[in-house]
Amino acid sequence: MKKEEKMKWGEHSAIFRRAVKMLFRLDRAFALCTIFNAFFGSVIQYVPIYFSAKLIDAIWTGAAKREIFFYIALTVGLTFLLNLLLTLCRVVENIKIANLYREWEWMYSKKEMEMEYSCIERREIVLLLERSRMESQTGYNLYYLYTSVRMLVQYITVIAASISLTASFFGVKAVPGSMKLALVAGLLATVLYGIYSTAKEEAINQEFWKQCVNLNILAEKYGICISDYSMGMDIRLYGMDEKIAGESLKTDMEFYGDYIKKDRKRLFLSLPSVVLSHLLRFGVYMILIMAVMKGTVSVGSIAKYVACIMLLLDAVSGLVSTFQRVFANNYYLKRFFSYFDIKNSMYQGSLTVEKRLDNEYYVEFKDVSFRYPDTQEYALNHVNVKFKVGEKLAVVGMNGSGKTTFIKLLCRLYDPTEGEILLNGVDIRKYDYDEYMSIFSVVFQDFTLFSFTVGQNVAAAKEYDRERARKVLERAGFGERLATMSAGTDTYLYKDYSEQGVEISGGEAQKIALARALYKDAPFIVLDEPTAALDPVSEYEVYSKFNELSGERTAIYISHRLASCRFCDNIVVFDAGRIVQYGTHKALLEEEGGKYHELWNAQAQYYVSGKEERAQSAQ
Ligand code: ADP
Repeated sequence: MKKEEKMKWGEHSAIFRRAVKMLFRLDRAFALCTIFNAFFGSVIQYVPIYFSAKLIDAIWTGAAKREIFFYIALTVGLTFLLNLLLTLCRVVENIKIANLYREWEWMYSKKEMEMEYSCIERREIVLLLERSRMESQTGYNLYYLYTSVRMLVQYITVIAASISLTASFFGVKAVPGSMKLALVAGLLATVLYGIYSTAKEEAINQEFWKQCVNLNILAEKYGICISDYSMGMDIRLYGMDEKIAGESLKTDMEFYGDYIKKDRKRLFLSLPSVVLSHLLRFGVYMILIMAVMKGTVSVGSIAKYVACIMLLLDAVSGLVSTFQRVFANNYYLKRFFSYFDIKNSMYQGSLTVEKRLDNEYYVEFKDVSFRYPDTQEYALNHVNVKFKVGEKLAVVGMNGSGKTTFIKLLCRLYDPTEGEILLNGVDIRKYDYDEYMSIFSVVFQDFTLFSFTVGQNVAAAKEYDRERARKVLERAGFGERLATMSAGTDTYLYKDYSEQGVEISGGEAQKIALARALYKDAPFIVLDEPTAALDPVSEYEVYSKFNELSGERTAIYISHRLASCRFCDNIVVFDAGRIVQYGTHKALLEEEGGKYHELWNAQAQYYVSGKEERAQSAQ
């Protein structure tokens, strides 16, 4: 596995600053409360330390009652006020933390949904997202970030306060210089070991999470197999439960085995630091007791020194490990930012799609070739074709010949590897992406219906025109089924979000998908075999009925069954990623020796006549 590249100080600082800015952008109130809590939460410890020393000395030296009372009132009053403020801030922080995580999750979701379609299947991006999400869930990135900010403020405040209150200790003559030196040396040793152990620990953690990415993806996939009820039928029918459970358990065991190994290493690393810091504490007590016995330090000051030096010790090692954690987290944040920095080249165009009254739009594929991400084979090879808006175009060919790829390129789900696609003579990459996308209504073979209401599925929006949704559903042949639904278009599909949700058949799902294409009312409608599960005659019926509904719009019909699209003005024939023929049904059929003629004859048995044909439609 490749070793992580070491970051320079400048890069560390830039990433940390960017992350802190992001924290403030995500939730400013949370960030401010965190800093406030850290600062005053540290300061509050010194109020009793400082005033108790004053109080003890006042009692010891027999000061007036007023002075003693004043110190008591000041200690109690100040701690009360600060505690009140802190409690308030902690409540706000606790409430705000839920919002922070919600915003954070939303950042991921938004990026995932906006990510170029071609990117979401690239293995390197899938792994990057998986790793970043997994690290975030484990606490790196966000949790580490805000706790580091809090700890930095807290430890710096404690160190500053402790040093200012113990500076006078180093002036105490009764304590020999060698002891003071030993104290500083002990402190330094704790710091150095802290640097070493946290660096080592982080290296162990990084290596562990790197190794776990694949295991985590596997575990998630097995989890989906187990919990997704749509797979439940095949699991039961084919007795796949043992295989899935076995593989899932194996993945879990491998993960926990690595986890235990990692924690064992961390435990051994932390032991010396515990021993060292306790030795140092012991030394501090000895030195101070010696000073008291010599009577050179007041009793009040002793209490103050002990408390402050102990706090200083903790804060120094805490600050060191916080710095180390900030540095370590920067590697995670770098990965996190690298995911969010993936450019969306699809969004670079800015031209608006010309609104032409004469409807004279035409689309041209100019020597277009295309390879899917991470593949070597070309799915499309030197494709040249031109068609006019308003035309009914059929795209036919065997399975795997490139028909869907052709449509995906037309709709900018991918950009061509070579060549260009023009809309009215302009490269489609130059158009504003959202606007260009809005001119297409596509129903793919593997269309998705969400577990939302029927109407929301049709409108592909939360709010929609109910009357229009009902009309298009009726036109798509879903009217009878809709009439049986008690909540009409507000009926939920499936039971994920509503107990009243309904199950629908494959054919009914297709009708909803077709209604969605009609609702959008885009100038281009594409049907990419959403009817593949139907028999050839039913597909022909759906296509020709849909053709009537599509009116003046450009409609592109895709099928591997030639007869389904024979009503189209023109037919494009694909074979092995190339357009091998183009023309009307009649002309193509007359070209003996052509692909269309060959396929037509091969499929002719299915188009003889209505009923018998359904019976034999095993295709
Ligand atoms: P058709 O629609 O004619 O059945 P496709 O356009 O779906 O054919 O596929 C054309 C070729 O591209 C096939 O060889 C197929 O395996 C390949 N292909 C399709 N989708 C992907 C993908 N997402 N990644 C890699 N290869 C793909």
